Amino acid sequence: RQRVFSGVQPTGALHLGNYLGAIRQWVTHQDLFENWFCVVDLHAITVPHDAQRLAEDTMNTAAMYLACGIDPRRCKIFVQSHVPAHAEMAWLLNCLTPMSWLEKMTQFKDKRAKLEDAQSIYVGLFTYPVLMAADILLYRAERVPVGEDQRQHLELARDVARSFNHLYGKRIKRQRQPPVFREPEALAWDESSGVARVMSLTDGTSKMSKSAASDMSRINLLDDADTVRSKIKRCKTDAGRELVFDDPDRPECTNLLNVYRALTGSRPKAEIEDVLRQSGGWAAFKPLLAEAIVTELAPIQRRYREVLADRGELQRILRDGAEAAAEIANETLRRARGAMGFMERV
Ligand code: ATP
Ligand code: MG
Repeated sequence: RQRVFSGVQPTGALHLGNYLGAIRQWVTHQDLFENWFCVVDLHAITVPHDAQRLAEDTMNTAAMYLACGIDPRRCKIFVQSHVPAHAEMAWLLNCLTPMSWLEKMTQFKDKRAKLEDAQSIYVGLFTYPVLMAADILLYRAERVPVGEDQRQHLELARDVARSFNHLYGKRIKRQRQPPVFREPEALAWDESSGVARVMSLTDGTSKMSKSAASDMSRINLLDDADTVRSKIKRCKTDAGRELVFDDPDRPECTNLLNVYRALTGSRPKAEIEDVLRQSGGWAAFKPLLAEAIVTELAPIQRRYREVLADRGELQRILRDGAEAAAEIANETLRRARGAMGFMERV
């Protein structure tokens, strides 16, 4: 079975974009692959963070994986910083990644633009994609199911792997061993299980994010039914009456229809447009959408409370995950150190 690696940052409450763009896909594919799901806490500190909250957010993110349907008997779940090889590998890769590659990353430009104080634009935010490359390459993962916003970072991970193998692979090749790194691929994106890019509820041109200032811009997976209804009622719409998919001038309309479709069995777009044409415009559609979201979230919220009621069990799952992860990660790190010519520890 091919190996999958993916993760979410513990930067706050998970939202519908994380779910439809990533986690729901992890869940539907968990039997097909060998799965490694990480709570990437080292990534969460690349922007100013609240030290009082990090540990709790890390626990909550792991709990949410389980609540969404990740089965710890079939998948390993662990916390990134519990496997020190991630940080060490990131340093090695930092020392062969050209700055010019990172300067092209659109997420860095976006996040930098949002940070008003220049003192809080950290070097770590700039090299974030290198840490992400380390995460993936340590496990020699073949597939990486992420939302559209992470595509560019995944490409970079491939470039870094190729560059390392090229620079340091000669001796390994002579010894007829497999290359240190494997070039990962995005998991071919499956329309039936999600939405590659869920947009903000208040601006159809920017993605839904944990770190966006306004809570009205996103549906959190823990929002109660009334909150979901009021956010949908107040979310941005347009003056067009017909509800149609994929009109480039109507990003809000496309976004809400995509979410609705993903939550209601992914029927053909034309069929959904037909039904909505007869029921009549935004006023009729919004309650339908709100109820579809509420229905999807209810069992997740119930399981979330159950998971957090037994923290001992969650900690056991994370400990077991970190132990298993370290075994693979340390072996890749050992080979990478050897290839780069480091003196062996005696
Ligand atoms: P932050 O604002 O702190 O970066 P985020 O909402 O972007 O938070 P991440 O932890 O960075 O969430 O990403 C976790 C996963 O969710 C990634 O696979 C990412 O591609 C996916 N994802 C995040 N936002 C969206 C979105 N709006 N639509 C689809 N997928 C998304
Ligand atoms: Mg993000």
